[in-house]
Amino acid sequence: TGLPNRFLCLDRLRQNIARSAASDGVLAVLVVAIARWSLIERSFGRTTADGLLAAVAKRLTAVIGGLDTAARLGEARFAVLAGNLSTADDAARIAQVLLDQLKQPVAVAGREIAVGGTGGIAVYPADGETAETLVAHAEAALDRLPASQESGYQFYTSAMHTASSDRLLLEQQLIAAVERNEFLLLYQPQISFASSRIVGMEALIRWRHPELGMVPPAEFIPLAEETGAIVQIGEWVLDTACRELQRWFAAGVAPLRLAINISGRQYNDANLVPGIRGMLEATGFPPHLLELELTESVIMEDVIDAARRLGDLHALGINLAVDDFGTGYSSLSYLKRFPIRSLKVDRSFVRDIAHNQSSAAIARAIIAFGSALGLKVIAEGVESHDQYDILRSSGCDELQGY
Ligand code: MG
Ligand code: MG
Repeated sequence: TGLPNRFLCLDRLRQNIARSAASDGVLAVLVVAIARWSLIERSFGRTTADGLLAAVAKRLTAVIGGLDTAARLGEARFAVLAGNLSTADDAARIAQVLLDQLKQPVAVAGREIAVGGTGGIAVYPADGETAETLVAHAEAALDRLPASQESGYQFYTSAMHTASSDRLLLEQQLIAAVERNEFLLLYQPQISFASSRIVGMEALIRWRHPELGMVPPAEFIPLAEETGAIVQIGEWVLDTACRELQRWFAAGVAPLRLAINISGRQYNDANLVPGIRGMLEATGFPPHLLELELTESVIMEDVIDAARRLGDLHALGINLAVDDFGTGYSSLSYLKRFPIRSLKVDRSFVRDIAHNQSSAAIARAIIAFGSALGLKVIAEGVESHDQYDILRSSGCDELQGY
């Protein structure tokens, strides 16, 4: 990109801070990231991605002119040091211009590519007095935007600092938790409408934290996803659940299907298929009884790659399910081409199915759609007779609940 790197950026920022301190001026650090970078890289390949980075760098430099510094902090992350501002609002204005510029299509390797971008802003001296702190805080503001967001920026606030140090602590404890054996699995039964028997179980992880008590997955799974700890935790879940069920089978429990959730990070991990193969061999768990649950957003993030990845998993002899169906985006035409065995109707549609016409209509439509494609349809979060009756009459195959 020809831009200064992080090291040089910090050095320039130190000089800017010294000048601003002397002149009482406002200095802002803007960190801008290209949205969905890994997807862009995977879709277009390394060379085009590199060309795109260079083009974005050129554009940023053009926007800020010779007065301010642009730098490349990492992979697809840039910093702009904007000095001599009268108020922090000027920083917001610059951020908006930068993001608007990013949205304009770039010509790379003979094609036009449009990218999104998000930004975080930290202002000197309010948000930090050293170069390192300012950059860290601008990045913290950026990182607090939802990963799915493709545009927009936000200012750093001190609450982000408290939240990020809490997160840091939780993150360290999360990594230690696997070794300390603080995780446990609970199972939700899946019952066949046809036979009224339990035909499967979904393994659900809980974290028994020494001080916080039972931490629900919604609180630690996103963190584990971000830090990569999910890969290790995911391996533990697979291994533990398969061994546990093998013990039940040995004790005389009739064979049951075991459903395991696979997160986006695990799904994209190159070691997923060999890891599962090794685990099946080590535990002796019958592959045809294993069902991996993937959310539709994970599968649909890259439909072209999904055909190959799902095919590799399917080739292990295991089953695949689309989890939380109806909550994300699905390409229905792709769905029928993938080797998927079941669709799981998200509990949000099941919850008020007996009282809300549109929930009931959506649930019925998903069941009809799944059945038409020859998929098994499993309704989640079924807790009442009313729900049971409606789902049964709609032709749902299985129900799951506490
Ligand atoms: Mg699930
Ligand atoms: Mg689910």
